[in-house]
Amino acid sequence: MNNEKQHKFDMRYLKMARIWAQNSYCQRRQVGALVVKNGMIISDGYNGTPSGFENICEDENNVTKPYVLHAEANAITKLARSNNNSDGATIYITASPCIECAKLIIQAGIKRVVYGEQYRLTDGVDLLKRAGIETIYLNPDEDEREEE
Ligand SMILES: [Zn+2]
Repeated sequence: MNNEKQHKFDMRYLKMARIWAQNSYCQRRQVGALVVKNGMIISDGYNGTPSGFENICEDENNVTKPYVLHAEANAITKLARSNNNSDGATIYITASPCIECAKLIIQAGIKRVVYGEQYRLTDGVDLLKRAGIETIYLNPDEDEREEE
């Protein structure tokens, strides 16, 4: 795939991840993630509590509960229950991954990370780079004209 086409696909998947983030019940922050391999979306996730727990992410002080899973973690662990795997895949995330998710991304064999919002802490992205994973920051809003 040429660079221009890849960029267009990256932008569209990132926009899809953003739409997917709207599934999150979390009030403070909604994050979405898609795992794409060989041109197919093989997994998806958004931040939220584990299956079987109440769909409320924040406690009475509006602090995110410690057991809320991040979008990336949900997308990667969902694959653990499927017949597919993320080896060599790309993950699209609406925000830059934290260090805990970066560790999961590395161990999941994901080779590219495309994210849409810079988080103040860069330790997650730094770790990915150290592991030789391609990290790409895109701003889906900057691309509107080109898309028309
Ligand atoms: Zn995370």
